[in-house]
Amino acid sequence: MKSKTRLDNQTAIVTGSSSGIGKACAIALGQAGANVVVNYAGNSRGAEAAVYEIEAAGGKAIAVKADVSKEDQVRDMFKTAIDTYGTVDILINNAGLQKDASFIDMTLDDWNFVLGVNLTGQFLCAREAAREFLRRGPRPEMSVALGKIICMSSVHELIPWAGHVNYAASKGGVMLFMKSIAQELGEHKIRVNSIAPGAIRTPINRMAWETPEAEQELLKLIPYGRIGETEDIGNLAVWLASDESDYIHGQTIIMDGGMALYPGFRENG
Ligand code: NAD
Repeated sequence: MKSKTRLDNQTAIVTGSSSGIGKACAIALGQAGANVVVNYAGNSRGAEAAVYEIEAAGGKAIAVKADVSKEDQVRDMFKTAIDTYGTVDILINNAGLQKDASFIDMTLDDWNFVLGVNLTGQFLCAREAAREFLRRGPRPEMSVALGKIICMSSVHELIPWAGHVNYAASKGGVMLFMKSIAQELGEHKIRVNSIAPGAIRTPINRMAWETPEAEQELLKLIPYGRIGETEDIGNLAVWLASDESDYIHGQTIIMDGGMALYPGFRENG
């Protein structure tokens, strides 16, 4: 019998998968048998490296350049995926960035840039994915759900973050975006969930872990006592995309070593 965690012959688009969490998700999905569209905005070498790693393990992948905040580029990316692999079954809405500033100094460009990628990008990709799932129709031999959408959120969908107001607002937006489309699309058997990582060792937060002093400071926020690795999130993404998690719908899975447990209260509660 086929393992319920296998994704053989399903096609996954992973946005922003030329580095970090997206790259690990792309590789993990490829290892689980999915055809993978490795989306990137500028880092073609990182995308090619992800494709190489998936192919070296016997999987199938292509790199596709698209800025997720641009409607025409998102449409073209889905068209390329469908032309290449026939359809799309899984979307990992991962692309995201930070443009930090104190609130007083935050420019409208800083705000629009982060909201454009982190929230509008998720809207554009999820809408395109849902349209494709409905066009293609059910394939119960592949997966119980018509399609799966996984949004990369953050513990900052819950935890306020001074100096990063645009980022925290974008992730707070992702939370109700995800839940609202889960409510709307569930009747079509489109399964929608989020992953909310805590501190994962990637380029986005390099300054928080690259020196031993910075790492010690960061670890004060993590009761479980280690920084997360991208593979932690990759494993969860595969499981959430698989039939094993078929009854999970409209949920944020927090994966943070306990960061959202208010660790400051350990000594001061
Ligand atoms: P990263 O910088 O390594 O990856 C972000 C990816 O998004 C990059 O590949 C980048 O090229 C891509 N990207 C940026 N703008 C894009 C655009 N317009 N179109 C397409 N792709 C674009 O950082 P990461 O930590 O791997 O972040 C991945 C996701 O995880 C983000 O949504 C981030 O908010 C979220 N996240 C990360 C952490 C963490 O600790 N690393 C914690 C919580 C949430």
